[in-house]
Amino acid sequence: MSRCRWIIDREVPGGRYLVPGCWSRAVYGDNAECHCKGGAQTTAERLEGKIDKLIARMDRLEAGREALRQEKGGNE
Ligand SMILES: [Zn+2]
Repeated sequence: MSRCRWIIDREVPGGRYLVPGCWSRAVYGDNAECHCKGGAQTTAERLEGKIDKLIARMDRLEAGREALRQEKGGNE
């Protein structure tokens, strides 16, 4: 999974730069494998990962609740 992303900035040559950035993506482009280490993730990226996990957990809880509701309805 690629970790670094392009930040658009008209002040820099090329108009964008990679954050946190690795040579693999910088040299071979967006389709190249990201070589950024996990420790190089920004706080925002770490939070994004946590939010994704929370959303997945909520989805599982919701699915379980829906299954219970259907079970109750089916007893009539
Ligand atoms: Zn990278």
